[in-house]
Amino acid sequence: MKKQTRGSLFVLSGPSGAGKGTLRKKMFQKVPGISFSISCTTREPRDGEREGIDYHFITAEEFQSRFERGEFLEHAEVHGHFYGTLRDDAVRVLDSGSDILLEIDVQGALQVREKMPESILVFVAPPSFEELEQRLRDRGTESEERLQVRLRNARWEMGKAALYDYVIINDDIERAAGELEGIILEQRQNREAQKDEIL
Ligand code: 5GP
Repeated sequence: MKKQTRGSLFVLSGPSGAGKGTLRKKMFQKVPGISFSISCTTREPRDGEREGIDYHFITAEEFQSRFERGEFLEHAEVHGHFYGTLRDDAVRVLDSGSDILLEIDVQGALQVREKMPESILVFVAPPSFEELEQRLRDRGTESEERLQVRLRNARWEMGKAALYDYVIINDDIERAAGELEGIILEQRQNREAQKDEIL
């Protein structure tokens, strides 16, 4: 019997305002066989966000007990809220042979790298810091104080881009989405090639 090949785990990070979400959605429209990992978060849902689709919105108490039970593959405090990836959910997808994409911050990405060194880390960067600030201001979802927190975090995150396998500059969404698609398809080809070598 032919053994089912395990899927690959992709991590997508980058400062808020770099356009990760849009990029990810565009890529998902084109690439079959990849799932999005739905994180747990203690932050409040924003307008239009839905439970179980964008996030699992949970209380700080529930987050803490899930953490104590070792349910998170990685977790981090970002902009004053907790976020975490459920390990079992990710493993189930990978074991079924499907790929999975985690859209998580740099702290979480580095934890994933430690636990699953074969994962592929992709960093999405804005064309410039000025552009990033403008995008965040145009979005208008944050108070000035929270915006400053996001900008400070963004500077720190940009400094970690070199730790990633790939850096995509999001200057043009279509081009950037094509690049992300290319990274995923290339990984699949490499995996197939390795499988053929083993067989
Ligand atoms: P937002 O609150 O804007 O949805 O997300 C804030 C930041 O948290 C983003 O950089 C996002 O990628 C990150 N994030 C979302 N889910 C997770 C997660 O499960 N783990 C970690 N480490 N970061 C996450």
